[in-house]
Amino acid sequence: MNIELFIRKNIRHLKPYSCARDEFQGIASVHLDANESPYNPNFNRYPDPLQRTLKEKIAEIKNVRPAQIMTANGSDEAIDLVFRIFCEPREDNVVAMEPTYGMYKVAADINDVEYRPVLLEENFQLNASKLLTTTDKHTKAVFLCSPNNPSGNLMNHEEIRAIIQNFNGIVVIDEAYVDFSTEQTWLKELDNYTNLIVLHTFSKAWGLASLRCGLAFASEEIIALFNKVKYPYNVNRLTQNQTLDELNYGDRKNTWVEMILTEREPLAEALKSLPVVEKIYKSDANFLLVKVRDADKTYRFLTEKGIIVRNRNKIPLCNNCLRITVGTPDENHALINALKDFSNCLNK
Ligand SMILES: *Cc1c(COP(=O)(O)O)cnc(C)c1O
Repeated sequence: MNIELFIRKNIRHLKPYSCARDEFQGIASVHLDANESPYNPNFNRYPDPLQRTLKEKIAEIKNVRPAQIMTANGSDEAIDLVFRIFCEPREDNVVAMEPTYGMYKVAADINDVEYRPVLLEENFQLNASKLLTTTDKHTKAVFLCSPNNPSGNLMNHEEIRAIIQNFNGIVVIDEAYVDFSTEQTWLKELDNYTNLIVLHTFSKAWGLASLRCGLAFASEEIIALFNKVKYPYNVNRLTQNQTLDELNYGDRKNTWVEMILTEREPLAEALKSLPVVEKIYKSDANFLLVKVRDADKTYRFLTEKGIIVRNRNKIPLCNNCLRITVGTPDENHALINALKDFSNCLNK
């Protein structure tokens, strides 16, 4: 697929900002090129705009080449860049599944690009042909999320493949929750599909949400476009260094994932036994979508008890649903106890 055809004209012709230090990559002892302060040695120099050391480590862990990686100020930065690179405002559109992660629509709205939601099936499954009929010649990107937020389930592999193979444009697969699922990542297919962008993040399984480090993986051509359009110093030095350090503790991340998955099933069982709970949806992530009798009332009761969950009532297919993150055993007990109290209140 010729990616060149999908790039906005202004981006195709863009001459990117050139950082002072880009022009000289070598051993230098005197830096008088960037108007930095010569003082305060831990912080006075601009960080590496291409985050090269960090990418080498990520490449090892994710089994891709460094040139297939873009490190971002959270996945949200990568999502926004897809619009800025490929979508002509007021002319192009994107298609996404519904319900899904809210940032795709926010980024579309900010960039003044039409957003076309396509309802998932009742069981939150993806229907490729239905989604593809919603695309037209102005559709530049399709956003897929698997495991999906807020439903928690994996999208059918073959439906995703049908979209990648038949859609003439960029396909973004957001795998923010991939570490919690049994399915293989689409990273393995990067070399087979030049129109594929896979998003990962360190915000969930790795426990690093506060560092703001998200990842986009794609062909070298698409990554070069990301690098051209992004802010030069989009990932700061503290984040680069701390993320690099945390990546040495992959075993600890795996232990956390196992603890969360071990907690998820008893939590689901305990919730299921409560009279206020109507249904628990199958989850491949670190959260549960829970249908209750009255989501607004339940949400309010929990909030008063100091327990915050996500109220997804009113979102398509999520009537009376709460999205509940799997916490520590103590946090999960507190939730169950509060919901028992709530049931008792209703019976009085
Ligand atoms: C939490 C989440 C992210 C992570 O976003 P960051 O900006 O990397 O913190 C991305 N996609 C989905 C679907 C999410 O739920």
